[in-house]
Amino acid sequence: MPANKKDIRALTKDQLRDFFVTQGDKAFRGNQVFEWLWRKSAHSFDDMTNISKMTRQMLEENFVINHIEVDTMQRSADGTIKNAVRLYDGLIVESVLIPTKTRTTACVSSQVGCSLDCTFCATARLKRMRNLNPDEIFDQVVAIDKESKLYFNRPLSNIVFMGMGEPLMNYNNVIKAIDKITLPEGLGMSPKRITLSTSGVPKMIKKMADDQVKFNLAVSLHSAIDEVRTSIMPFNETFPLTDLKASLEYWYDKTKRAITYEYIVWNGINDTQRDIDALVNFCKAVPCKVNIIEYNPIDDGEFQQASGEIINNYIYNLEKNRIVVNVRRSRGKDIDAACGQLANKT
Ligand code: SAH
Repeated sequence: MPANKKDIRALTKDQLRDFFVTQGDKAFRGNQVFEWLWRKSAHSFDDMTNISKMTRQMLEENFVINHIEVDTMQRSADGTIKNAVRLYDGLIVESVLIPTKTRTTACVSSQVGCSLDCTFCATARLKRMRNLNPDEIFDQVVAIDKESKLYFNRPLSNIVFMGMGEPLMNYNNVIKAIDKITLPEGLGMSPKRITLSTSGVPKMIKKMADDQVKFNLAVSLHSAIDEVRTSIMPFNETFPLTDLKASLEYWYDKTKRAITYEYIVWNGINDTQRDIDALVNFCKAVPCKVNIIEYNPIDDGEFQQASGEIINNYIYNLEKNRIVVNVRRSRGKDIDAACGQLANKT
């Protein structure tokens, strides 16, 4: 790729309109190209059939479209699909299609690798190499939408930012991608069907509230006791639970939208009554629900999911305090596509 060619999808609609004006064309041409890029997900300028050949050539000379490519696709026995996606610079990220009877959910990555160091997560073992660009996040969604139509005869219905990376450490690009996903000239999806999952970066949670984002927020909590949380999610030392809680109160105050906590119960880590009481107490801060997620072993057996009895005790105590709790079965384990297993093994 010649260094002077810019990725056209880095331009906003206004910048595209201005570009055409500087070329002596109409600003409206910018709208047409914008639609080709974002609504119709064009892979090349030649796809843009209502644009003159001369204009297409001019675009070709000035820009590139850095489209992702699905490098390998694996299908799980339960229908889950994992895509290993190749980026323009050769790096790989993974995204997952999760089908249920009525929905198709895309689980997308926001970074190559991850800068956080959660001890139970396979992605943490890859170092963070770079942030994904907005179009690279967008393209993962388009790829899964296509697969959903092809294999399940229905479009994608939901998106979760629970793939590789910490979305709040790549906030601007994630927001730009969500913009294109929700814009009518983009994919036109409702933000209510999008959930951003974060390990909990208080400053950025407040920023999202200030920005009045319309999508849902999930927080990977896993413990409501600082020493315990720091032992499995070391960055908790920098962003302790009091700060996290304050940011969630701020979020609720501004958005009036409940929060989902993701929580795994492990033997010997967070399986005591004290852990349960701390969670119940944390849940009283703002309206919320708890998703207890199944642990997906990532190799050495250091972490073991707690027994059903302990999980039932969590459920009993949460429900007694009128906190909604769901137990989420994991999907796609046989192809390393489940939560925390994304590590570019294919
Ligand atoms: N960084 C973001 C999003 C990626 S992780 C976050 O932390 O929320 C997506 C979810 O998978 C998180 O809730 C995370 O805690 C969970 N997870 C990580 N490793 C896991 C594992 N081995 N088994 C089950 N869930 C895991």
